[in-house]
Amino acid sequence: MDAAGALEALPRGRAGESYDASGAFVLPGLVHGHLHLCQTLFRGLAEQSDLMRWLRTSIWPLEAAHTESSVAASARLGLAELIAGGVTTVNDMGTVHHTEAVGAVLEESGVRAVFGKALMDQGEGVPTGLLEQRRAALDGALAVARRFHGAADGRLSVSLAPRFILSCSEGLWRDVRDASRERGLVIHTHLAESPAEGREVEAAVGGTAARYFAAHDVLSGRFIGAHGVWLEREEAELLARAGASLVHCPGSNLKLGSGFADVRRWKEAGLRCGIGSDGAACNNRLDTFHELSLASGIGRALHPERPLSPREILALATCDGADALGLADRTGSLEAGKQADVIVVATNAPHHAPQPEHDPYATLVHAARATDVRLTMVAGRVLYRDGAWMTLDAERAVADARAEARGLVRRAHLGVAA
Ligand SMILES: [Zn+2]
Repeated sequence: MDAAGALEALPRGRAGESYDASGAFVLPGLVHGHLHLCQTLFRGLAEQSDLMRWLRTSIWPLEAAHTESSVAASARLGLAELIAGGVTTVNDMGTVHHTEAVGAVLEESGVRAVFGKALMDQGEGVPTGLLEQRRAALDGALAVARRFHGAADGRLSVSLAPRFILSCSEGLWRDVRDASRERGLVIHTHLAESPAEGREVEAAVGGTAARYFAAHDVLSGRFIGAHGVWLEREEAELLARAGASLVHCPGSNLKLGSGFADVRRWKEAGLRCGIGSDGAACNNRLDTFHELSLASGIGRALHPERPLSPREILALATCDGADALGLADRTGSLEAGKQADVIVVATNAPHHAPQPEHDPYATLVHAARATDVRLTMVAGRVLYRDGAWMTLDAERAVADARAEARGLVRRAHLGVAA
């Protein structure tokens, strides 16, 4: 995590390119473990709610109203924010349709990504526009994988993304399990997010999501579960024995009132752990540094006697986060042999004074903001530098997002001022 390490990781032979990072921190690009790029356009449109009501009355109707161009605008807006905030890898859940549009924007942006098509073949309150037949859902996901898995010089990989227990039939979970095994694709889903969801899951399948996944052999080293707020100790151990990963989404869990995920317990169980902000409709800022600060506070409140250290917290968004996504061989740390995913974080603003270098980990977890990022590089390519985006037109992304959001709200009939 020093400048020497970063230089070692840079591609050789680009003489003449340099960046003066003196007085700043140079660190591995941030790994964002759970995201819905399709929801960036929904920012501010789904407030004061709890998970199940939020999904049924706002998020699903909005997702059903998406067009290819509104999904692309949503992804572009989200990526402009994330890249400027030091994120070099994202794990995106997607929505049911227009996943190719997300893939094209990911490719254009230059970011590293795992992404998928959300799978939904049942569920109370799911609009017909999002419901698919089991076979069509899986076929659609596999078509996305054929086009994008390993694309963009290996920067993109495709996941299978069954949304959660309540939106997927038992047959679809079996299909996903088998396809993941046969093709080596990651499974990205949500579990144990809120108490009300847990009660509905219990009524639907007679147990918890984690136990259902274990009983159906869905768990493996390719399983990534978001939230996990209400996991019991034995369930965390069940996931850990299978080699599964969990992604902490503290900002989303707080805004939707879902609860406080116990990352110390996850780590003690031996789980691989990452962190993410979730979508902009339940957060609303896609600022990974903010999530780190929240994770630290929640960790200390839950376990005052053995809080997560700033170093452990930062690892959630770097080396541990990369490991949680199965990408530890290429990103998450600055070392020879990995891709050059590097960021520069300035510490000269008043909110870092007087001594940011006294404890760099504490500075990054407790004081740093997305706006402190000066440079974001993925695989040796600069995507953002000193307020300028190299691959995206941020000004146009904002204008397009405004126009697309107006159309989206009209189509969704939400009764929100457009
Ligand atoms: Zn989510």
